[in-house]
Amino acid sequence: MQTLDRLAIHTMTTKPWDLPTAVKKYSAAGIRGVGLWRQWLDGRPLSESRSLMDDHGLQAVSLVRSGFFPGLNATERQAALDDNHRALDEAAAVGAPQVVLVCGAKPELSLAENRKQITEGIAACIEHAGKVGVKLSIEPLHPMYADCRSAVNTIGQCNDIIDQLGDEWVGIAADVYHIWWDPQLEQEIKRAGKRIIGFHVCDWLTPTQDFLNDRGLMGEGCIDIKGIRAMVEATGFNGPIEVEIFSTRLWATDQDAFLSNIITACENHV
Ligand code: ZN
Repeated sequence: MQTLDRLAIHTMTTKPWDLPTAVKKYSAAGIRGVGLWRQWLDGRPLSESRSLMDDHGLQAVSLVRSGFFPGLNATERQAALDDNHRALDEAAAVGAPQVVLVCGAKPELSLAENRKQITEGIAACIEHAGKVGVKLSIEPLHPMYADCRSAVNTIGQCNDIIDQLGDEWVGIAADVYHIWWDPQLEQEIKRAGKRIIGFHVCDWLTPTQDFLNDRGLMGEGCIDIKGIRAMVEATGFNGPIEVEIFSTRLWATDQDAFLSNIITACENHV
């Protein structure tokens, strides 16, 4: 990567650090963007979290995460909508231009029903998104999560949803971990065009020890990150490159050294 200018770190990547620590360390390392996980907002007013970032020259590039639209009854579905509206309000308050949607899935429901409820759920958030000026960014998840985390698993599905809902307030977060295997990837990224509003990087380890918390640092695994970046940038995307690594192994290491390794890995492998 040419410069640090476009690098953003998700607070979950350096999970042991609370927000005051993370902003201090990111800023000292020359980083300007934060993928802000909602848990890192707990315990202080939103304005204070925003000031913490402002004071360190940092910008929230995304608020992570909401979604989880499918429910077994109307009460559950309404609770999800309420939470998504809250997430949009939080994003507006901290200055994040987009909320990342992990769309959700209930194993008790069929895939078709999950997908229908997801599309309806996103549709029901668009008006509020426009009102507060924050985009809804659909992140397709790897199909290994189709049972209980997201029934939206490809960029192609995101495109189909956005074809129905319009792209004024709905976009796509392309995370290499979730999409690298997709044989339709290049054509669907091309089809997405300016709908791509987020780009997340990490790597896929072999063997993967844990489906959730064993992601690799860029360069440790088999994903063609540079190739996917080229596809994404061919659409005109020039936004932040968000480092999002969940790793029990890496969280247990010295986080200062890890942050420095992230920057080196971005220079060499992204
Ligand atoms: Zn992601």
